Amino acid sequence: MATPAGSAAPAPEAVADGKPTSRPVLFVIDDEAGVVRALTDDLTRRFGADFRVVGESSVGAGLAVLRRLADSRDPVALLIVDHDMGDMGGIEFLAHAHDLHPLAKRVLLVERDYSARSPVVRAMTLGEADYHLTKPWLLEPDLYRVISEFLAEWAKDRQAGFDLFHVVGGLHDRRTHELMELLTRFNVPFRFEAADSDQGRAMIGRKGLEESCLPVMIRHDGYTMADPSAAQVVEAVGGSTRNDLDECDVVVVGAGPAGLTAAVYAASEGLQTIVLEETVSGGQAGSSPKIRNYPGFPYGISGHELTRRACEQAWMFGAHMVFSQPVAGLQSCGGRRVVHLAGGREIAAGAVIVAPGISWRRLGVPRLEDLVGSGVFYGVAGSEARAMEGRDVFVVGAGNSAGQAALHLARHARQVTLLVRGDSLEHSMSEYLVREIGATPAVTVCPHTEVADGHGEDRLESLTLRDRPTGQARQVAADALFVLIGGDPRTGWLPETFQLIDGYIRTGRDVLRDEAGPSRWPLDRPPLPLETSVPGVFAAGDARYRSIKRVASAVGDGATVVRLAHEYLTTQAEVPVSLSRLADG
Ligand SMILES: Cc1cc2nc3c(=O)[nH]c(=O)nc-3n(C[C@H](O)[C@H](O)[C@H](O)COP(=O)(O)OP(=O)(O)OC[C@H]3O[C@@H](n4cnc5c(N)ncnc54)[C@H](O)[C@@H]3O)c2cc1C
Repeated sequence: MATPAGSAAPAPEAVADGKPTSRPVLFVIDDEAGVVRALTDDLTRRFGADFRVVGESSVGAGLAVLRRLADSRDPVALLIVDHDMGDMGGIEFLAHAHDLHPLAKRVLLVERDYSARSPVVRAMTLGEADYHLTKPWLLEPDLYRVISEFLAEWAKDRQAGFDLFHVVGGLHDRRTHELMELLTRFNVPFRFEAADSDQGRAMIGRKGLEESCLPVMIRHDGYTMADPSAAQVVEAVGGSTRNDLDECDVVVVGAGPAGLTAAVYAASEGLQTIVLEETVSGGQAGSSPKIRNYPGFPYGISGHELTRRACEQAWMFGAHMVFSQPVAGLQSCGGRRVVHLAGGREIAAGAVIVAPGISWRRLGVPRLEDLVGSGVFYGVAGSEARAMEGRDVFVVGAGNSAGQAALHLARHARQVTLLVRGDSLEHSMSEYLVREIGATPAVTVCPHTEVADGHGEDRLESLTLRDRPTGQARQVAADALFVLIGGDPRTGWLPETFQLIDGYIRTGRDVLRDEAGPSRWPLDRPPLPLETSVPGVFAAGDARYRSIKRVASAVGDGATVVRLAHEYLTTQAEVPVSLSRLADG
């Protein structure tokens, strides 16, 4: 039975210049006609002026309607699909519907069940749905507020709008991708034109440029940059790469979650703060398409969006943000710390917060990078493991963390395949783990194997694996891939006065007070928590020894470290720059 609301039938509305001018559709399907009627009525009341609400209660009729809408190129904004529709599961229906309307946001309609058994838990983890709605709903908190949020995300994704830049370059060219990554990190709207497309050729031809100049960036006003450096790009989009201050209260090194949080808190407490970032803000988190475990974002948030907001917040509190500015050294001179920039300049600071993070070793497979958060995960978390019930999952890595992840996943997954580049686990994994893996039938170890490619539109569907000795490739179905191939702290630039362990910075109680040599702790008082072996220099985030490698932990470090740096500054003989200015005023 069809229960249309808002419009009696989803017939196409007007088409002008080959483009649909119809109101986008909110599509609802549930096998209970009463639910469809109630939901379509409620949605029409609030959203009916801008959207057509279309309801169906049978799978066949629902798919037929969606096919007609696709044929007439009518945009569908939301697919609201009941999880349990009898003849076809809601997830399967969503998959078919999404094939027809790939830009639509997928909303799973479920009963209220806040247990781990709820189908939402698995669907979200595997990237099979974008959001959920619960039945029954309260109008304002459950329905209107959340639907408005879903629609805002849909509108953001499909925005054709105004492109500030055109990027012309090679589809598989590393420099072109770096350039686009920079623009994305800065939230700059741009359009990519492949250099070998008609449009791309015409654009570089009009500028009289050769192919050797690629990639080329053309601003809307015609200003053109051929193979620009990161600093040129940052300047072109309004970011600052220069620092005109020689002294300040606090220098923060690194603008990942830890550094950005430190900047927000330091600047908001009135400390004159300079943030120095080697590339652009975001750090590792900025490269994650979806962070699902950051508190307060039940549907996840892109790491780029999260860190972009923190960056703007720090700037609004008055932090001086300097991008494309690597710090090359750090030294203590009397009561001041001197930060050396790669270009040769120096900044004197009352306190320094070092937050350079780590560089995770990446698989380097672009298609898998696009699916991070939607079936591809760096590291393994408990919530994801639970969602792997009955699934086939893969783990890449041969260290203890990979072994532990495989065993943890095997408690839920149907089959866990551990992909190892070498010939065995014995050289790299603790013996007890190797034994446990051997005794767990659900875990298979695949030696001499590397991941060559990944496949899937919205979520991981399969992997191409390559046998290293023979080079032979095979494609295997995969519900999830967990990558645990280690990382290195980015602390090579720190002088020998810092106590490091495997490159990680010792702080607080971990600083050895009886250490001889240049990294000796020089004071009678013990180091403050998060203080390094150099008094007045603090460390936060992933690069700190014993850190928990998570966004929320880095944020926690960033907030805590400012309190400690402030405490340090106020006990120093020298008054912080901003405080002395207050005293003068
Ligand atoms: C793909 C991916 C997905 C992830 N997903 C999640 C997730 O879902 N949930 C979660 O909790 N965690 C996740 N993590 C981990 C999380 O991103 C990190 O724990 C977090 O970003 C650490 O923050 P940080 O500020 O300490 O370091 P980083 O994020 O690494 O930031 C450090 C910054 O310092 C800069 N820098 C380094 N050296 C210098 C220098 N000499 N001068 C100036 N600047 C410098 C770097 O360019 C970088 O911008 C993920 C990590 C990756 C790689």
